[in-house]
Amino acid sequence: MADRYFKTQGIVLRTYKLGEADKIAVIYTQDYGKLRATIKGIRKPTSKFGAVIEPASLIEFYLYKTNRELQKVIQAVSVDNFATIKADLDRLTEAFAILETVDKASEDMNPDIEVFTMLHNVLKWLNTCNKNIRLIFPAFCLKLLSIEGAGLVTQYCVYCNQNTELVAFELNEHGFSCDKCKKSKRVANSTIKAVQQVFNGNLRSLLESDNQLDVKQFESIAITSIEQYLGAQIKSIKKSATIV
Ligand SMILES: [Zn+2]
Repeated sequence: MADRYFKTQGIVLRTYKLGEADKIAVIYTQDYGKLRATIKGIRKPTSKFGAVIEPASLIEFYLYKTNRELQKVIQAVSVDNFATIKADLDRLTEAFAILETVDKASEDMNPDIEVFTMLHNVLKWLNTCNKNIRLIFPAFCLKLLSIEGAGLVTQYCVYCNQNTELVAFELNEHGFSCDKCKKSKRVANSTIKAVQQVFNGNLRSLLESDNQLDVKQFESIAITSIEQYLGAQIKSIKKSATIV
């Protein structure tokens, strides 16, 4: 039965109660994608897992395969608990929104190393950066859309296909429109430039810059797009005023 034991690193997306003393952790793992594992006795004060297995932590798990849907945690060793995130409500809000999005975007036991790596990197960034914290979750959403093959059209107008100045965001067309074709409200040119930066692979320079970005507008484009893609709301993030 040795092959029923396996080891993998994973980031805890969320946990929920099971019975009196136990919990189930939903984990995004490096090798197996998202999986669920029971943690026996975690809610008892003597549990060795209590302080280790919490959302937004990277953990080395030793698991036992009980069945396809549910594994059991045998051992868990913290690799990185992202202490700065846990100590700061603004960072934690962004982190929970990211975790919820990954949870909603992924199926159990369907590994995707790109998603795991991006999730790990975004938590590292959120844990160490000193500015533009509110850009991190929306930028993550845009990157995730891109990985899933559902990136926004940012180089030409979604209606006339002309490579011309873009002025408005068209949610249902998954991109931007020019002045002649626009059906939605205008968005700032700096917002469109920021979205283009993410899709052009210049995310880091956006996050490091001293930009004068309209954060709510950037958030709104990213969050409405990911919610439309998922067909579900991200409940962890406080909703920005609707502008598009
Ligand atoms: Zn046009």
